Order: sequence, then C-alpha cells, then structure tokens
Amino acid sequence: MTILSFFTRASRVFNGYPASSKLLLLCTLSLSGGGVVAYSESQADASKTSVQVNEKDCKKKRVVVLGTGWAGISFLKDLDVSAYDVQVVSPRNYFAFTPLLPSVTCGTVEARSIVEPVRNMIKKRNGEVRFWEAECMKIDAANKKLLCRHTGENNLVGNDEFSLDYDYLVIAVGAQVNTFNTPGVLENCHFLKEVEDAQKIRRSVIDCFEKAVLPGLTEEERRTNLHFVIVGGGPTGVEFAAELHDFVNEDLVNLYPSVKDLVKITVIQSGDHILNMFDERISCFAEQKFSRDGIDVQTGCRVISLSDKEITMKIKSTGEICSVPHGLVVWSTGVQTRPVVKDFMAQIGQANRRVLATDEWLRVKGSEDVYALGDCASINQRKVMEDIAAIFKAADKDNSGSLTIKEFEDVIDDILVRYPQVKHYLKSKHLRDVTDLLKDPEGNARDGVDIEGFKLALSHVDTQVKSLPATAQVAAQQGAYLSKCFNRKNQCEDHPEGPRRFKGSGRHQFRPFQYKHLGQFAPLGGEQAAAELPGDWVSMGQSTQWLWYSVYASKQVSWRTRVLVVSDWTRRFIFGRDSSRI
Ligand code: FAD
Repeated sequence: MTILSFFTRASRVFNGYPASSKLLLLCTLSLSGGGVVAYSESQADASKTSVQVNEKDCKKKRVVVLGTGWAGISFLKDLDVSAYDVQVVSPRNYFAFTPLLPSVTCGTVEARSIVEPVRNMIKKRNGEVRFWEAECMKIDAANKKLLCRHTGENNLVGNDEFSLDYDYLVIAVGAQVNTFNTPGVLENCHFLKEVEDAQKIRRSVIDCFEKAVLPGLTEEERRTNLHFVIVGGGPTGVEFAAELHDFVNEDLVNLYPSVKDLVKITVIQSGDHILNMFDERISCFAEQKFSRDGIDVQTGCRVISLSDKEITMKIKSTGEICSVPHGLVVWSTGVQTRPVVKDFMAQIGQANRRVLATDEWLRVKGSEDVYALGDCASINQRKVMEDIAAIFKAADKDNSGSLTIKEFEDVIDDILVRYPQVKHYLKSKHLRDVTDLLKDPEGNARDGVDIEGFKLALSHVDTQVKSLPATAQVAAQQGAYLSKCFNRKNQCEDHPEGPRRFKGSGRHQFRPFQYKHLGQFAPLGGEQAAAELPGDWVSMGQSTQWLWYSVYASKQVSWRTRVLVVSDWTRRFIFGRDSSRI
C-alpha cells in the first residue's frame, strides 16, 4: 500500500473524529515512521453543531468577500465571524496553493493535493460564513449592491443570477492573464494561472510526445511537436521550464526513447535576463543552470504574433523578425485587471488607472466601505512631499518658523509609520537616524531648519515609494491585516492606534498596512533552487531546494493538503511522475 492510499484510508476511518484523535494518530505515525509531521488542525471540531445565520434577526453588518484566493482566504481565516454577517462569493469553491501550480503541470504533485475546499474551511467557522459559488458580474457602488451569477457548467434548473447587499465589501478577485493584445495568443497558447490550466498543460505535454512517436512523421515534424516554448522569463515561466526539463529527462526519455534527442525547451524573454526581479546573482545562476541543461534562453526578444504552428518574434537589438515552429506554447508574461474591477473603477473615477487604487489602509479610493487587496489592487502610498507643509506645521510647536531637532524628534515615529518610504530611504543611504537628514551638507548637526531647509532635507525620500509585487505573500499579509482591522473596528474607534493625522486632527484609527518581505524562491530543477532571503541574503543550490520543500510544506493551508503534497513528493522520488494522459 502506498503512503497516499494509507493516508486516504486512515482519513476515512478517522473522518468525523475530533482533531485530537487525528493528532494522536499522526503523532504516533510521526514517532514510529519518523517522516510525518504532527497533525494540529486544532480549529477543526466537527462535534460542534453549526449555527445557522437567521437573516431576519441579523443586525450585524454585512461583509461580502469576493474571491477565495490568497487575499480572500487569509482575510476570512482570522476574521471574527461572530461580529459580522459574512458572505463569500467566488466562482471557485476551493483555495489553490498557486506556488505549486508549475509542479502540477508535470505531475510532480497532483492537482487535488494543492487545493482546499472552501466549504471545509467555513465548516470550521461553525456555519457563520455563507459561500456562494458564483462570479460577481457587477459592483453597484452607489447602491452597495452586487450582481452575481452562478458559473457552474451543468444546465441545472433555477435562476443563475442573484444580487447581494453589503455594508462592507472586500474585493479580492485577483487578476487575469495579460496577452498584451498579441495576435493569436488567446487561441494558441496555454496559460498557467488556474488549476485547470496546469491540468491542461499536463495533458498537452503528453499529447506532444504521443504525437511525436506516431509512425509516418518526418524527423522535422517530430522535432516541431517536441518544441516547448515558454514566453516570459519571470518566476512562473522559469519554474515551469525547470519542471518540464526534469519531467522530460527523469521520466519521459525512458518512455519515449526514440525521440529523446528531439526535445527542445525554449524560454523567450523580452528583457535582458530571466528572473530579472531577483538579485543579479540569481539571474546569472539560473541562466548558467539552464544553459547546462540545454534549455535555450532567448533574451531581448518580443513575441509579436502566434499561430497554431509558429511563433513569430522580433529581436529587439537588430529589429529582425523570425518565426519558429512549436508544439506547445505557455504564455506567462504578467497579469491585468479583471473586467468587473475595470467597470467598478469607471464608476468611482479611477477609469484612467491601470490597477484599482487603495490607500494604505486598503480602502478603495473614491468608494466608501469598500476594501481591495491582493493582485486586483495597488496601494497608492502618500508622498511626504504632498504633506510637507502640514508635517512642518505640526512639528513646529512654538510656531517659530524653524524646526529644532527636539521638535522633529517628537513627530519622527508618526512619520516613519505614515510614510514607510522614509525608512527605506535611510536604509538605502546607510543612515542610522532620521535626524541625520537634517544635517548640513558637511554632515554637521544644525540647531534648526526652516520650511525650505526641511523640504530640501526630505526631498528625495519619495524616490523610495515602490508598488508591491503581485504575489501570494503580499495578498496573504493584506488579508491578515484587514481582518485584524475588522476585528478591532469598535475598539480602535474609541482608542485610535494609528499615526497622527498631519492634515486634520487626531490620529488614524489603525496603523497603515506594512508589507514584510519574507523572501522569494526560484526552483530551477534538478534539485536546485535559488532564494532571496530577508536581510539581502541570497542562497542557491541543493540545500536551497530542501529549504523550498520545507517552506512550501509548512505554508500549506491545511494539514490535509500538507500530507498530500509531502506524499506526492515522496511518490515522485520513489516511482517517478505519472505519464498517463488523463
Ligand atoms: P487569486 O489567488 O488569484 O484569487 C482570486 C480569487 O477571486 C479566486 O478565487 C477567483 O476564483 C476569484 N474571482 C475571480 N473573479 C471573480 C469574480 N468576478 N467574482 C468573485 N470572485 C472572483 N506568489 C508568491 O508569493 N510566491 C510564489 O511562489 C508564487 N508562485 C506563483 C505561481 C503561479 C503559477 C501563479 C499563477 C502565481 C504565483 N504567485 C506566487 C502569485 C500569487 O498566486 C498571486 O499573487 C496570488 O494568488 C494573488 O492572490 P489574490 O487573492 O489577489 O488572487
């Protein structure tokens, strides 16, 4: 019996037992087998009866959450659902652990191992959260109403459309793939955004091999079928290329020996390097690794069109246009705003923006009681220079027109919280103290500065305002932050905990959201990975791959998926990947 089937059976036997029983079972296994981590799904207590929400009696504020991705789920996870009437709308009735999607494309892990049903999660909240499997088609901001439509595939009876009223709306719908209007992309490319995309790629890769070994094909035709092209040299494209290389070289070459020398993997990148958002050493390491593996990396090339047979690109340096035949193309070049969000942006005066803008408290600009987080939004960080006169006035307590160091020190903490770019600027300039900014050009302390001197001293700090990357890490931290704000709404109304308002009086109700970068991985195949770790550390090689395994196992949203993922990795180590086209 495989480890997986053992767990499946054990889970069936223990289904319905409290978490403590499961904990005992797995702790026992862990001690005897040594390989399994302890099961601590402590919140799961199936013995508690569900509390039905009675809509008529419900005086609670209605919170509607759109989306069950990283941002939405992390918001729901910590939200005090007893304080609100919570409803969740998403066309996906599961959460997907997207960082492992590239592994699904080649069967290193199975699709179901990286998803957790939303209803499993809300069951743990004693029925206080209601879930609707539907897509929000329109946000009516003026009337605080949502129009939703069930998106299931079956032709079931009943109306698919319904509307919901909200008091607070949390938009966490993520983003969609961006084709940059390149002709032929939608029709002829695979994407790697959803679980279904990964499953489709897995089937198509096997198709390419099965087609290539059919009798009656010329060698050129076999070569074309086995030419896998990845457009986009970011983390997703690179990870997919690495996974595919491993799949081909560790598993498929043994099953399709006659065509093993005809396989080619190409990565097309418009920039000068792949993984260019990482440290230079990581880009370089990845390029060298791919070159050793025989993965063709073509940098400085922009794809201009695609057909089912050929991919046409322009070489930026020479302007030359060339076409190459392909068997399969995966398009992984970035994301763009979803139509429902674009429509909402038009209603609230953000039509000319690319992404929905929020303030630092994740409140949508131009719309009351609407919050947006994750890939669908971007924080518009307030600039110091916009408030410089107000900051000066607030700090200059004696209205002397000159700011002393002591007066400046009194507002420093509020400045650092309200404008995090100041901290980043100090770090980039290797300055230890904010008061160092007020020193004269020779580095000597001054008794005081007037408004012009103050402006000059802080004139460059806003260069450090950066938009946050579209990552799961950002989305999850924003979800957790917002749920804390919701949980403490009443408390912080009476006792605001945020920084002082430089424009206006009093303090902000909450501290603004602050992102904490915990590092980023780039798995490169062949049990090699690279990572950028906090504190500007860079780590590369096999040990980093093991760090990747442990971090990704620990980050799973439930013990069920954790056990499934770890057992999938174990299965792959022992038996290799499955090449069935299912
Ligand atoms: P999503 O997770 O995309 O969730 C959006 C949710 O909204 C979904 O449930 C969707 O069904 C739902 N939805 C969509 N439209 C509607 C609608 N109209 N109404 C209601 N609901 C709707 N990030 C990392 O930090 N590390 C990684 O290693 C990493 N690897 C990645 C690998 C891949 C292949 C991909 C695709 C992404 C990866 N990311 C990674 C990025 C990360 O997945 C995203 O940044 C993250 O998913 C954003 O979270 P989100 O909640 O904003 O959106």
